[in-house]
Amino acid sequence: MTDNNASASPTPVTVIGLGLMGRSLAGAFLKAGHPTTVWNRTASKADLLVAEGARLAPTAGDAVRAGSLTIVCLTDYRAVRELLGASDVDLDGTTLVNLTSGDSAQAREAARWAGERGARYLDGAIMAVPPVIGTADAVILHSGPHQAFEEYESALGALGTVTHLGEDHGLASLYDMAGLTMMWSVLNAWLQGTALLRTAGVDAATYAPFARQMAAGVAEWLPGYAGQIDRGSYPAEVAALETDARAMAHLIEESEALGVNAELPKLFKAMADRAIAAGHGGEQYPVLIEEFTKPAGA
Ligand code: NAP
Repeated sequence: MTDNNASASPTPVTVIGLGLMGRSLAGAFLKAGHPTTVWNRTASKADLLVAEGARLAPTAGDAVRAGSLTIVCLTDYRAVRELLGASDVDLDGTTLVNLTSGDSAQAREAARWAGERGARYLDGAIMAVPPVIGTADAVILHSGPHQAFEEYESALGALGTVTHLGEDHGLASLYDMAGLTMMWSVLNAWLQGTALLRTAGVDAATYAPFARQMAAGVAEWLPGYAGQIDRGSYPAEVAALETDARAMAHLIEESEALGVNAELPKLFKAMADRAIAAGHGGEQYPVLIEEFTKPAGA
């Protein structure tokens, strides 16, 4: 793992795609002293970067030829294939780092596609927003050949805290998805609680510090619960799932009584009820992994 390292030796780098994210990526490379070539379909988005010292390539093919490291950050994988699959773009010998968001199947397919064109391919997931790029708070995950990552790790470190997850090209996208489900689950749970408390005149700002403390407390349970999942053994050391299910029923009843949306607690309870029906009521909460590791209704 590396964080933004301004002392890395200058490495020529190409950034293709200068949307909100691509402009921040190129800006961070420039700031760290790396000779930066850029290209964007709408050329005017390069103006500020050119004023800061970037070189604007006339075509995407020229941009790729400018050096051996190419970062691409477009709307989606389809745009990447359309652009870099064009006849004037030669990927042979390039290390292509694709920071476009997508899923793991797209990442693995893009790796195969790039490999056929002679490129070394690293997939990447940016777990940060543009203003944070170039600081240690910008977490950027990579997967694909470790050797390629190692070769460019110090240059990539200009973007933030960069990590190599493994050789499987799909890993960065999978971690991205896992992070998103964590983000939305925490936010939805907080919104459910906020809706309940508003019925008693408690505003969101008053509840937020308590909610943050709860979320941080629950996060502390994860390593121990992960151990249970990895061992496949779920003794009820703290509470049994059927105890949780009774509390879920209270949450549903309270929500409905107060005229608050009860869809989320009903989802929790439906999953717990299935696990209890399968004989897991006396085990601890992480036994629900068995519900999560199969499609709904299976
Ligand atoms: P954006 O501002 O909408 O920029 C999209 C970029 O893709 C532009 O450079 C656009 O070119 C280019 N593009 C789209 N279709 C193209 C095509 N067919 N051929 C050539 N260029 C094409 O989006 P963004 O916020 O920079 O996001 C880019 C990627 O980063 C996405 O995959 C996004 O999920 C990911 N990401 C973004 C954030 C964020 O907070 N913004 C955070 C994490 C990850 P034009 O300028 O010519 O339209």
